[in-house]
Amino acid sequence: MESNKNKILKNLPAMDELLSEPWVLFYEEQLGREMVKNVFSSILAETRKAVLHDEAVETSIDGINQRAIAVLKGRVALSLQPIVNATGVVVHTNLGRSCLPIEAVEAVCQVAARYNTLEFDLKEGKRGQRNAHVEWLLCQFTGAEAAVVVNNNAGAVLLCLAALAREKEVIVSRGELVEIGGSFRIPDIMAFSGARLVEVGATNRTHLKDYGQAFTDETSMVLKVHPSNFRIEGFTSSVPREELSHLAQEKNVIFMEDLGSGVLIDLSPWGLCGEPTVKDCIMAGVDLVTFSGDKMLGGPQIGAVVGKKSLIDRLRTYPLLRALRVDKMTLAAFEKVLRMYLQGRWNEIPTLSMLTLKVEDLRKKAQALRRKIKKTFPHLEPAVVEVNDAVGGGAFPVTRLKGYGVALKIQHIGSAGTLQTLLRQAEMPIVAGASEDSLIFHVRTLMDKDDERILQGLAWLLEVKKGE
Ligand SMILES: *Cc1c(COP(=O)(O)O)cnc(C)c1O
Repeated sequence: MESNKNKILKNLPAMDELLSEPWVLFYEEQLGREMVKNVFSSILAETRKAVLHDEAVETSIDGINQRAIAVLKGRVALSLQPIVNATGVVVHTNLGRSCLPIEAVEAVCQVAARYNTLEFDLKEGKRGQRNAHVEWLLCQFTGAEAAVVVNNNAGAVLLCLAALAREKEVIVSRGELVEIGGSFRIPDIMAFSGARLVEVGATNRTHLKDYGQAFTDETSMVLKVHPSNFRIEGFTSSVPREELSHLAQEKNVIFMEDLGSGVLIDLSPWGLCGEPTVKDCIMAGVDLVTFSGDKMLGGPQIGAVVGKKSLIDRLRTYPLLRALRVDKMTLAAFEKVLRMYLQGRWNEIPTLSMLTLKVEDLRKKAQALRRKIKKTFPHLEPAVVEVNDAVGGGAFPVTRLKGYGVALKIQHIGSAGTLQTLLRQAEMPIVAGASEDSLIFHVRTLMDKDDERILQGLAWLLEVKKGE
């Protein structure tokens, strides 16, 4: 028995033998010889272990090659790659949130490939401020006196708390102590910043007097937090920001609001109601407002802080800002997107154009996709269906976005779940929805030429499954 195992182990192919296979060359070019060698090493190690433990394992050179190819193939494709979003969720955090307008992408390319004015004042010929490229634009849209930008909104909140409330108390309503997107929790950020959280009110109701009773000599801030996707229905109440602003002013403390999504323009004419704009918050007397660049704003990942100049100036000189600073590519994209707002061209920003599509246009878009599928694959029965889309990113959580989609069943291949799994493996992966065992392509989030990508995905899927 032992000698049999030894014999198998001895007969395992040698590394040199494996590396000399002709197919290996392609992967060496793509991934380097060391990487390929590491893959073979770990497969050989696993194989030896399996043999010693009497587990079934393929020990021939062919068997080992097959396993190596499977691993190497997975490494050759880019890991961060474009996909088709057919989910109807516009600001989808897992799918990269906002898609940049092409002109913003071009601005990134220009700046990324060349030396640039990131921190250089051309007039003076000396050091400039990286923040200056976008500060005046943010002030323009929000009515704020000053602004700084950092890596993301979580960073913006952390910076404000650390710089302005470290070792002091910050009053927050219990109804707003929520977890956002699985990793952003106000109590955790607060603890990390060194500020002390003072919770007031009950989960469902917080009154002005709850805040009023919580002030001490140590209080430095009242913080209002957008509850994001979280909603309590029924017997609830919260304090309007105007009242909180008066109270904070009277007590001589900072009033800050973490707005999360950051809507710059009033979208109620398009049925998106109930979210204040950043400007509304400033007008209501909030001293500092923080928001994301890549949610409702439709730009790159960024965290903006806008508000009182005296407070923003304290943030500018706080050392943590250096660790959270924004890079040139992000700033290039952000400046371009903000200028599109300036020019009244916000509806050319993908996030906003998708959110303000007319239901009738969505229906037409779905009909066109249905026709193309039917024409290319006459044996399939695609159907136009009404669907619910979503804004995503924590904004407008209760807004029902009526949309349209194309429903499809391919019974000889499998369930809707099976079809979803397969389409994710297409050359251009497609992430689609499902309902009552139909695959659903929500058309709201489809971009230019995505119809063709869906046809290609379906053609590939029908082809690979034909032989089975
Ligand atoms: C999304 C969100 C955050 C986190 O913002 P990031 O830009 O993802 O860091 C924080 N607070 C609220 C209320 C949010 O909605």
